[in-house]
Amino acid sequence: MFLGDVLAKLLQLYPKYGLRIVRGYMQYVWDDKGNRYLDLHTGYGTAFLGHSNPKIVEKVYEQMRKIMVASYSFDIDSRDESIEALSKILPKKLEYVFFQNSGTEAVEAALKFSRKYTGRKKFVAFTNSFHGRTMGSLSLTWNPKYRKPFEPLLKDVVFLRFNDVFGVERFVDEETAAVIVEVVQGEGGLNVATKEFLKTIREKCNETGCTVIFDEVQTGFGRTGKIWAHQHYGIEPDILVAGKAIGGGFPVSLVAVSSEIGESLEPGEHGTTYGGNPVACAAISASVNVLLKDNVAEKARETGKYFRERLGKIVPKEKIKGLGLMLGIDLGENPELTIKLLLNEKIISLKAGETVLRFLPPYMITREDINYVVKVLSNVLSGKNYPS
Ligand code: PLP
Repeated sequence: MFLGDVLAKLLQLYPKYGLRIVRGYMQYVWDDKGNRYLDLHTGYGTAFLGHSNPKIVEKVYEQMRKIMVASYSFDIDSRDESIEALSKILPKKLEYVFFQNSGTEAVEAALKFSRKYTGRKKFVAFTNSFHGRTMGSLSLTWNPKYRKPFEPLLKDVVFLRFNDVFGVERFVDEETAAVIVEVVQGEGGLNVATKEFLKTIREKCNETGCTVIFDEVQTGFGRTGKIWAHQHYGIEPDILVAGKAIGGGFPVSLVAVSSEIGESLEPGEHGTTYGGNPVACAAISASVNVLLKDNVAEKARETGKYFRERLGKIVPKEKIKGLGLMLGIDLGENPELTIKLLLNEKIISLKAGETVLRFLPPYMITREDINYVVKVLSNVLSGKNYPS
């Protein structure tokens, strides 16, 4: 009846680094042999505010001692405080917030809310997009490798070319419930949206009555040098989806919507058991506090600029991709060997798309850290460390 002596196994769905991590502090993690690594992976960007940032850990502990569970049916201080904190950073137009646990769940909510509000079915997404792996989000995720084995997915999804203004003008219409877009595509290769592209999406949605969803799960919370990446463009969404960094490492996500969308929803039309729990909300308040008090976005902008300049000394500028501290290099080949060689020098990095070496460092990464990365990378790319 039971597995008994046989050890249950973890499903192997991720590439492995051959590393056992035992602790983390700010931009560093340590393995079980006591080696320190500079972390430019940060759990796919989640530990942007640093590993176990003491200001967040303290608040989370404090809340855990008080109460850990209270559903949305009950009022709690930590949730009220998190809403108050978020009011300081959310676009004014987005008055309603709903908490979930992961990015993909927040995307699911955004899709449902836009359908309810518009009464329409069609979604528009873009090539190289990534919105998550549950059935709805997956339907809007571009990579066929992720989608194919799980079809049939949602019908009524149209993929247009990222940054293709004419596609938007032609295919966003009166049947469209929402256009969902990443301002900088993360998993798809660090592709930055053009202003014209986002402006056309905004205008076309205004004209046809569909909703604009900005998926800022990876770009949000200061990562690109502004609190929200869309602030680089001065263009606002009707629905904002955020996750990863917003809980300082605690699993939490949110969907923020305009008052018209928020007021179109009835009790029971969406829900979540863990979403908005007291501990997650405490993590959000503490994280917003760090974000604002430590001028995180500004630091990410300055440090990102420095990182980019230094990378520009070792690779052609046109190969450098991304925005702020969401940076990468298009190597024109699978970056896995480079990732491995960097790891040998105690630097953890990751991949984006098929050919991009990606760096998602925490905002407190120093110039010395960056100089070290660039020095090692320069050696690696010039072939010095490649095995013969
Ligand atoms: N949206 C974007 C832009 C992402 O980068 C991700 C994850 O990488 C998701 C959604 C899904 O988030 P999660 O893995 O927390 O479900």
